[in-house]
Amino acid sequence: MNWKQKEINLADVRALTYRRRQSRDLIVARAKALVDDPDRQKRLQAQLCLMCYHDTRLAGQAFTDTNCRACNKDMQFSSTDVDALCPECARALKLCRHCGADLNLRWRKVVAVATIPKVTPFEPPPLQPAWPSAVLLLPRKDTP
Ligand SMILES: [Zn+2]
Ligand SMILES: [Zn+2]
Repeated sequence: MNWKQKEINLADVRALTYRRRQSRDLIVARAKALVDDPDRQKRLQAQLCLMCYHDTRLAGQAFTDTNCRACNKDMQFSSTDVDALCPECARALKLCRHCGADLNLRWRKVVAVATIPKVTPFEPPPLQPAWPSAVLLLPRKDTP
């Protein structure tokens, strides 16, 4: 590919510098918020870990049905950016409702499964589509 670029001038340099400064300031502000946790009460009320609270999320525009990863309850979301846990399980387990990490990013030894309010028995997700036939052609270990 050949891409002819236009000659740079002072207006370009200023516009680029302005945008780069904005990006830098956003990153610095976000890093500071990740360290200081200034909205801690709001964040805990929203049941989000530091990363999810300060994350800018990208999501597809599609109503999405999914299940809670703890109690298997059905949940509906207006985009593909779904939560991992229902609000009740997130609260009971002190986990981030969006990603499922510890709410304060502490290193856990247990999830405390006993406290999960069981709604429906957990069913394994549907099987993935079959592997390409090349995988199926491998000889089984028990064949002579
Ligand atoms: Zn749940
Ligand atoms: Zn999270």
